[in-house]
Amino acid sequence: MAFSSEERKRYARHLDLPGFGAHSQERLRAGRVMVVGCGGLGSPALYYLAAAGIGLLGLVDSDKVDISNLQRQILHATPDIGRPKTDSAVGRLRALNPHVRLEPHAEHLTADNARDMFAPYDIILDCTDNFAAKYLISDICVSMKKPFVHAGISGFCGQLLTVLPGKSACLRCLFPAPPPLSVPESSPTAGPLGAIPGVIGSLQAVEAIKFLAGIGALLTDTLLTYDGLEAEFRPIHAKRNPACPACGAGAKTKE
Ligand SMILES: [Zn+2]
Repeated sequence: MAFSSEERKRYARHLDLPGFGAHSQERLRAGRVMVVGCGGLGSPALYYLAAAGIGLLGLVDSDKVDISNLQRQILHATPDIGRPKTDSAVGRLRALNPHVRLEPHAEHLTADNARDMFAPYDIILDCTDNFAAKYLISDICVSMKKPFVHAGISGFCGQLLTVLPGKSACLRCLFPAPPPLSVPESSPTAGPLGAIPGVIGSLQAVEAIKFLAGIGALLTDTLLTYDGLEAEFRPIHAKRNPACPACGAGAKTKE
């Protein structure tokens, strides 16, 4: 289906971008991205994905907007305090781009509901804030062979990794069991600096857009770390672990 004249104006910068163009924009319109977490990482990721014209965006979050979220969770605003984050996010994203179909889930991601939730989507973004959810997303995506983009933040630092299950290293290839990160799990009193999830969540959106458009090189087999204080990005190269408890030869995956 051709783009309407409104869509052609809206996406003009993409349509004119060498190496992107109408073909890639059409792939974004046909694309389906699930974003787990509508907080610090999910806010910029969802904003840029909606702005880019992704066909279907899934949102998962069981929380309500708290005033302490507003220092970094830029999808939500002061009048949204007390509202479910999915409601606030849907309102903001719909105002930004009415062409995007939004599928909110105001519930907690669990081992029981994750497979059904993830099934309709091409790629999953892990925008959660705790190890349990990150390992759940990695394990479910590996078992479903569903591509996903892991991310984590703490203090002044962040990291991300794109995973193509069966082809590239998964979270457990790098860190077989929690706590996996080189930085401690974030707590309400330990930051992060508000703009750090902005950096990392935006990078997750770039990974999803490249994946859907089929362009560029994905951040697979490389954990990219960012230290905001040192102004330093560092790629840590990784390989699939044949003994990985999730994707290794002996792994018991529930197909
Ligand atoms: Zn693995």
